[in-house]
Amino acid sequence: MSTKQIIVKKFGGSSVANIDRVKAVAKRIVDSKKRNNNIAVVVSAMGDTTDELEELAFNISKTPPDREMDMLMASGEQISASLLAMAVKALGHDSIALTGPQVGIKTDGSHTKAKIERISAKRIRDAFNANKIVIVAGYQGLNDNQDITTLGRGGSDLTAVALAVALKANVCEIYTDVEGIYTTDPRKVKTAKKLKKITFEEMLEMASLGAQVMQARSIEVAKKFNMPIHVRSSYSKAEGTMIMRRNTKMEEIAVQGVTSNKSEAKITINAVPDKAGIAAQLFNAVSKVGANVDIIVQNVSHKKLSDISFTVPKTDLTKALKATQTVAKKLKAGEVTSDKNIARVSVVGSGMRSHQGIAARMFETLAKNKINIDMISTSEISISCIINQKQTEKAMQVLHRAFIG
Ligand code: ADP
Ligand code: ASP
Ligand code: MG
Repeated sequence: MSTKQIIVKKFGGSSVANIDRVKAVAKRIVDSKKRNNNIAVVVSAMGDTTDELEELAFNISKTPPDREMDMLMASGEQISASLLAMAVKALGHDSIALTGPQVGIKTDGSHTKAKIERISAKRIRDAFNANKIVIVAGYQGLNDNQDITTLGRGGSDLTAVALAVALKANVCEIYTDVEGIYTTDPRKVKTAKKLKKITFEEMLEMASLGAQVMQARSIEVAKKFNMPIHVRSSYSKAEGTMIMRRNTKMEEIAVQGVTSNKSEAKITINAVPDKAGIAAQLFNAVSKVGANVDIIVQNVSHKKLSDISFTVPKTDLTKALKATQTVAKKLKAGEVTSDKNIARVSVVGSGMRSHQGIAARMFETLAKNKINIDMISTSEISISCIINQKQTEKAMQVLHRAFIG
């Protein structure tokens, strides 16, 4: 029986943005391997490669076919994985680069946002037995038709966590361009504080509400299988942040983090007859076209007419707008308008369950800074406000100052 630790390390796009960075990562991996560990490395596409590939496709068609889109997008990670394996070999250590399909990552059929169904990690275990460092192209798998699928943007995080679970790794390390998880985006708010620990629950909420440092779905998987994640910098040796299950010593903090998200748009349907069944009709039509509705607000006027506003991801706006316009015509409602210039700012913390007055303080803080609230939404451990996108950074600053310091 081997007593070696199994460690899965994931390096994000900025960590392998150029050949010097690829070489630096190779050195770090080989050093860790020398400490007698079995190491599987998941790597993202170099720098902005994924965005550039997407742009190429959109220069051909506004609606590129999903299957070919996945084939294109997955190629970015294959470049970085093969180069990294070459760099490791150049340092004198044996290594093998594998694509998602080659390591047996099987997904469902939903191209561009596939879910991992199973992983047969045999090929990785065989490589470990041959003392090789395994480099895996992140963000991709294979569906039952033997077609390449991708796991949604930021999906290399999911590859890393899922592989860590499949390999029964001791820890999953996520190397990125900041030193860990902060109370808010450290690039937007200079006073952001690095956290030593954060629970799966809070990280999942922060990621879902816009903290792009971890893909939300990867945290769902880590939480389900209780796989601890260490988020740290690929540029320094400093300890980062542990994302883990709550233990009794961890304090429940009212506001642990502040996030923002500019990826949503708002649709408003004006002067809708105020009678039973209208909302059902509208949201049935919107969900039928595959648009994900989130916040919904209905204002009722005295003349038996109401305005209904709701948010959808910007990527779903065109189809949701079309569906809404069709329903508006049928209902003889008024104008349908849309607004892309919105943003969501949120405060997150598990202590919200027991602390009162967080919502009032949030609204007061925004009001004092002349930031108008357009819509509000709450969950058990978060409060979100929709505001004008131009005021996003200011809102994050003032909320961070009010709740965290
Ligand atoms: P990678 O390329 O390594 O996957 P990402 O760009 O996906 O990196 O995520 C890292 C970025 O996430 C950071 O540069 C930072 O600007 C942003 N970020 C947003 N919210 C947070 C937060 N609360 N803590 C740390 N980073 C955050
Ligand atoms: N390269 C993919 C993206 O940019 C996956 C990842 O980086 O996690 O979304
Ligand atoms: Mg990322």
